[in-house]
Amino acid sequence: MEEILINGIQGVSRVLVGEKLSNIGNYIPNRGVFIITDTNVFSHQGKNFPNFPTYTIEPGEGSKSLAEVQIVSRWLLANGADRSSFILGIGGGVVCDLAGFVASTFMRGIDFGFVATSLLAQVDASVGGKNGVNIDGYKNIVGTFNQPKFVICDIGSLTSLPKEEFTNGLAEIVKHTLIADGNMFSYIEARIEKIKNLDLDIFRELVNHSVKVKAKIVGMDEREKAERKKLNLGHTWGHAVEKESGFPHGKSVSIGLEFAARFSMHKGLLEHRDYMRIINLLRDLELPICSSLSPKKVFESLTMDKKKTANSIDFIFMLGIGDSIVERISISEIKRFIEKT
Ligand code: NAD
Repeated sequence: MEEILINGIQGVSRVLVGEKLSNIGNYIPNRGVFIITDTNVFSHQGKNFPNFPTYTIEPGEGSKSLAEVQIVSRWLLANGADRSSFILGIGGGVVCDLAGFVASTFMRGIDFGFVATSLLAQVDASVGGKNGVNIDGYKNIVGTFNQPKFVICDIGSLTSLPKEEFTNGLAEIVKHTLIADGNMFSYIEARIEKIKNLDLDIFRELVNHSVKVKAKIVGMDEREKAERKKLNLGHTWGHAVEKESGFPHGKSVSIGLEFAARFSMHKGLLEHRDYMRIINLLRDLELPICSSLSPKKVFESLTMDKKKTANSIDFIFMLGIGDSIVERISISEIKRFIEKT
């Protein structure tokens, strides 16, 4: 097991890669714990849950809503939760976002921790202290910055994860290598077969690496004023694809990464050779690099999403593989790029 620390404004968050859900008793209080999970995770992992009241949501993005926040908060009240209670989210990114948001707002905030059970949650969603829910299809439009006391990345729990959910997590892993570590990009290129065969030893390495990249960036800029914006690589376009197509988050991010790579190449920041390496890696990992949506439609969705932040946007460009830059560009620059290509 490896422990990675994130130094947040309100305290330290411990990320434990390789720890097991069955050891959860070492991390939670012995009373006043309330568990939030989803039905899939409960059916596969429920036997290892500690014996505390458990609220089970329907799996999927639809549960990341203010309506669900209200239902869960009512459930907490009905079950006697108070300011000293502790919320334990056990599940994927949806459970972590919802549980983190509920914990951060219930009675103005109570302590919480996560056991991340999907690859995407382990490498990204559970780590870093952002907790948000959606309104009318707009992703994470209400949310909080608040670090969990701990995040357990139980690699063994991935054995029950459907294969296509691995693919979703891989998009965020590739994103982390593109932002900060070209060597790790090469490591993945050399291990495609093992990754496809879901070799858990390789996944332990990948989770460890991704958490370290994210923890370092969050430690520098928890509130996303500058450096942390880099973690949005591929997300400007990806979120608009996700909203318009209903594609899962990871696959939408993969399409967003291709867009960011092409845009970076167009601006002379990324060589064609590196663009091709990125495309080939995404393809080898069975990630999509385009959708049947028209670029115009995705662009319209993107401008709607950004309406309230004037006419410009922070776009993340790639400077080769393993380095990135945040640049404020006008929305019309994106429009011109789309029209040209
Ligand atoms: P998810 O939580 O919907 O999980 C994907 C599917 O896998 C679900 O059906 C779930 O029930 C199932 N599942 C999870 N663990 C399992 C296991 N061990 N065995 C069997 N089934 C399992 O989605 P996700 O891909 O984990 O996360 C996506 C969400 O994360 C999105 O809402 C995204 O916005 C959010 N996210 C948040 C952040 C953040 O910083 N807060 C970062 C990235 C992504």
